[in-house]
Amino acid sequence: MPRFRAILDTMPAYKPGKAVLTADGRSYKLSSNESPYDPLPSVVEAIAEGARQINRYPDPGCAQLTEAIAQRYDVPVEHVALGAGSVTVAQQLFETVGEPGAEVIYAWRSFEAYPLLADLAGAVSVQVPLADEEHDLDAMAAAVTDRTRMIFVCNPNNPTGVSIRRDRLTAFLDKIPDNILVVLDEAYREYVRDEDVPDGLDFYRERRNVCVLRTFSKAYGLAGLRVGYLIGHEPVAGAVRKVMVPFAVNHLAQIAACASLQAEAELLTRVETVVKERTRVREALIAQGWTVPPTEANFVWLRLGERTMDFAAACAVEGVAVRPFAGEGARVSIGDPEANDAFLKAAAAFL
Ligand SMILES: *Cc1c(COP(=O)(O)O)cnc(C)c1O
Repeated sequence: MPRFRAILDTMPAYKPGKAVLTADGRSYKLSSNESPYDPLPSVVEAIAEGARQINRYPDPGCAQLTEAIAQRYDVPVEHVALGAGSVTVAQQLFETVGEPGAEVIYAWRSFEAYPLLADLAGAVSVQVPLADEEHDLDAMAAAVTDRTRMIFVCNPNNPTGVSIRRDRLTAFLDKIPDNILVVLDEAYREYVRDEDVPDGLDFYRERRNVCVLRTFSKAYGLAGLRVGYLIGHEPVAGAVRKVMVPFAVNHLAQIAACASLQAEAELLTRVETVVKERTRVREALIAQGWTVPPTEANFVWLRLGERTMDFAAACAVEGVAVRPFAGEGARVSIGDPEANDAFLKAAAAFL
């Protein structure tokens, strides 16, 4: 038998959101926080044009996209690092700090990739339970030891949707020694409407140990192409670039991301529609009698405890795929109005 790393025996497997299909053909995938919209014609055109060059390797330095992101956020190009989806950038971050004994702190439950990436990188996960569906920042600061190398803060938090306000994040960052890297994972930043929820880039601009993770997968609708990025100071971005697998961001992904930045206004109009649907869905759920934490992301969270898997099954009957976490709750993405109505119907029937 080939021998593998012992950690592989205990690692949680990543469970991607699945689709369901009813006998009469209904299928609403609200399990992966994707954009419900088809890609923009201008983006599809750019991809089709780029397809003519795919006999060549992609630009390993992603120069054009790096430049476009740097311009968009008014940061130096040296402060940008790209990856095949921000989950890969997160993996690169774990690789830069992971060694025996290195501790990484993050809230739990949060993004399901964190424990997996920590294990893979040989780092120790320090999971700090959420308090009232929110990051318990006091407990997270108290969990810092001299072995702590990195802290992930997911804002808004996946899967609860709850966000951290500016004053609380400032107070937290003030407590963290500046030799610990703080990663603000802002995969859902474009959906945030609460003005007290800070733009992580403001913290990056003031603090050399803070970096921000963003993605083209959610609001920009490029989940299928895999491209995400980090903005951080040169030592951070440089380290992340160093551990990148060569050519990880493919040619079509680079082209589509550039085209999406050019079509940003159009894409953000779609985001606004999703935000309105989010309000409608949350209010309808509350009117039905559910408790729904305030969400700044493109999903809602229902804490169902032992009823979680029954709830997911009840949604599947209506063709609605949700993301259940057994014994905890279900995360439901905001889709188009028809999908959301199907979900609301299932939720009402379940009660
Ligand atoms: C979806 C998500 C990501 C990343 O997605 P990619 O498709 O890999 O860019 C990162 N962080 C959080 C919290 C997410 O929910």
